[in-house]
Formats: sequence, structure tokens, C-alpha cells
Amino acid sequence: MTDIEREPWRDLDLFAPTPEHQLLAESLREFVVREVEPQAADHDRAERFNHALFLKAGDLGLLGVTIPEEYGGAGLDPIAAVQVLEALSTSDPGFGLAVLAHSILFTQNCYVNGNEEQRKRILPKAVSGEWIGGMCMTEPGVGTDVMGMATTATADGDDYIITGVKTFITNGGIDENTLGDIFIVYAATGPREISSFLVEKGMDGFALGQKWVDKLGMRASYTTELVFNDVRVPKVNLLGEIGEGTKHMMRNLEIERLTLAAQATGIAQRSLQVMTGYANERKAFGKPIRDFGQIQRYIAETFAEWRSARSFVYDTARRINLANTGQRVDADATKLFAAQVGKRAADAAMQVLGGNGYMGEYVVERLWRDAKLLEIGGGTLEAHHKNLTKDLCRDPSLLS
Ligand SMILES: Cc1cc2nc3c(=O)[nH]c(=O)nc-3n(C[C@H](O)[C@H](O)[C@H](O)COP(=O)(O)OP(=O)(O)OC[C@H]3O[C@@H](n4cnc5c(N)ncnc54)[C@H](O)[C@@H]3O)c2cc1C
Repeated sequence: MTDIEREPWRDLDLFAPTPEHQLLAESLREFVVREVEPQAADHDRAERFNHALFLKAGDLGLLGVTIPEEYGGAGLDPIAAVQVLEALSTSDPGFGLAVLAHSILFTQNCYVNGNEEQRKRILPKAVSGEWIGGMCMTEPGVGTDVMGMATTATADGDDYIITGVKTFITNGGIDENTLGDIFIVYAATGPREISSFLVEKGMDGFALGQKWVDKLGMRASYTTELVFNDVRVPKVNLLGEIGEGTKHMMRNLEIERLTLAAQATGIAQRSLQVMTGYANERKAFGKPIRDFGQIQRYIAETFAEWRSARSFVYDTARRINLANTGQRVDADATKLFAAQVGKRAADAAMQVLGGNGYMGEYVVERLWRDAKLLEIGGGTLEAHHKNLTKDLCRDPSLLS
């Protein structure tokens, strides 16, 4: 062994840098094999969210890895959040999306931007899974162009009155008839001014709209419309200060994009496992298909892309600041790159498997459908192109 090899920093495992991350990785591996994998195909087929599995994830502490221990969380960091979403997505990206919407879009957002009363009242129930949360930004007429939102909140005595419709809300419902428990809702409080509100099940005028059925993928998560018909929300449910909504959104989007990118690396990893296994077993023209150059190209290119995307995701996780913005370039770029890697990986796996790849039994068909969402949700590829070009052209130091 040379002196260089003995330097301790070389022992750093980028994907599990501390004993806590290593423990988390182990419990995730076991949870995925024992609990997630056996139900994944059925819930996709039935377009059903697995509430019981969600509660088990809560019991294991997977719904609050970034939340401090005093509120019931594990007190870990963005690397842990990436580990959770990546591992779940090797098996069931749809269920992973429900976990992401709850633990990152709602719970993490509520922790960073909420006050002490809100944290104490809400976070323990969210971290355990007793309450299921989500985040409402998108509307029927507005997605990427968030500043154009039509939902309004108007002050009225001790309350705000929220009026509007949100759509494509993950965890909007738990089943056909049951609304999710609590949501962060972005609403306009003035011209080009957005504020964030906590809207809870049971508030008058707050209702479950249509459930989107026949989604291409991510079918194990519920996607619904939510209707706000003059919902009276007490002022104590304002998150942060009036007009801070855009700041909250931008802070949360970084970890959202990073964890969505982790979903893509999970999909790529599983796709590689499936295609290499199959290339070993399947024979054509008297030899294993792994011997054919074109099959080798699918496997080797996918491996190189997966390793690159994964390293990028974990490196960004190491540097991202959960309390503030600052890594928008990397958060956008990880998702821009990883989302496409995930989709290409599932596609390559399907090609390697031939007709079998097209069949549900071999898993990659489901991953292929799930992967597409990552090029749309949490910011489209085009939104990432726009943000990245704007930031990079404005600040040359980002390239030094
Ligand atoms: C399964 C699923 C789950 C979701 N979960 C949630 C959730 O929990 N909460 C939530 O708030 N939202 C959620 N969304 C919504 C998602 O974030 C939006 O669909 C996404 O932001 C895009 O918005 P849009 O669909 O309105 O498309 P649009 O913004 O209308 O875009 C249409 C097309 O125009 C392009 N475009 C728009 N503006 C520009 C521009 N300036 N330059 C170049 N191209 C542009 C887009 O890239 C896209 O190709 C979910 C969506 C899906 C499908």
C-alpha cells in the first residue's frame, strides 16, 4: 500500500459518508426487499397509494430524515434524503414520489419556513406518517410560470380567504374519497406577490377535486385537483411572513429537484441490474446476448451515465443548504441530467430484454413509464435549461 492510499480522506464513501448514513442504507435495503418490492407491481396496476406501507416508512423514520430529532425526525441531512428516495425508486418510484411530496415538499418546507408553534404542532405528526402532506403550486392554467398563479388569499379579520384550484397535487388524496391531511398552498396576496399557507383537511370550502386516473406512470401515488372555495384559513396558518412565498418555493425547489434526481438514479440502478442479469441468462444464436456488441453498448453506456449522475447527485447533496437557496445551478443540473439518464436507462433495459422488457413482469416497463415524470415534475427540462443558462451567463464564477 502506498502513502497516498493510506490518506484517510480517501476512505470517504460518497454515498454513505458517516456511520448514520451506512445504517440508513442498510435499513433501506432491507425495507425495500421485504416491504416495498412485493407490493410495487400491484399498486401500480391498481393505481393505488399504499397507505399501510407509508405508515411503515414512518415507523422506520424514513419520512423525516432531514427533520431535527426534537420534532421526531432523524436529524440527518440532504444525503440521507437522497438515499431514501434513491433506494425506494429502485423498486417503486410511484411510492417514492408520494414519500417525496410528503417529506420534502411538505414536511421539510414546513420545518424550514414555519414558526415554532407550527413546527411543534405539525412536524411530529408528519414525521410519523399520521398526517399526510403535500404542496400546492401548480394550477390548471399555470405550471412553469408560477408568478402567474390565479389562486388568491385575501385578509379578512383574523383569517385569510383562499380561493382557487390547484392541480396535479401529489398526495392530494389518500384514496378516492379521502383528502390528504395538510398542505402548503401558494397563493397570490398582491400583484406579483405570493405567500404560503397551511391548509388543513376539515377547513370549510377545502375539497378534493378530481383524481387523475390513467397516468402514464407514478401510479402508486395519488395525483389530484384540490379546490379552495373561499377557504377561511386562520392567520396562524400563514407560513413565514406575507409575501415570502416565492422565497419558500425557491428554497424548497433545490432539495425537491435533488431528490427527484435521486429517484432517477434509483431507476437507472435497477434498470442496470435487470439488463445485466438478463444479458447473462438469455441466449441467441448460440451464445449469451452479453456477447453482442450492441447489447454491450446499452449496458456500458448506461453504467457510465448512472455512475456520473449518481456522483453528481451525492456531491450536490453534500453541498446543498436546506435552510436557504444557493445551489440552484447544481440542483437544476442534477435533475436535468439524471432525469434523462433514468429514462434512457429504463429504455436501454427494455431494449436488452426484447419482448420480455415490454411486459410488466420484468419491472423495466414500469420504470420506463415512471421515469418520464422526472422530466416534467418539479420543473420541466426546459425550465432547467432556462434557469441554468440565466445563472451561468450572469455569473462566470460558477464556471471557475
Ligand atoms: C404526476 C405529477 C405529480 C405532480 N405533483 C405536483 C405536486 O405535488 N405539486 C405541484 O404543485 N405540482 C405538481 N405537479 C405539477 C408539475 O410540477 C408541473 O406539471 C410542471 O411544473 C410543469 O407545469 P405544466 O404542466 O403546467 O406545464 P407548462 O408550464 O404549461 O409547460 C408546457 C410546456 O411549455 C414549456 N415551457 C413553459 N415555459 C417555458 C419557457 N419559459 N421556456 C421554454 N419552455 C417553456 C414547458 O417546459 C413544457 O414543455 C405534478 C405533475 C405530475 C405530472
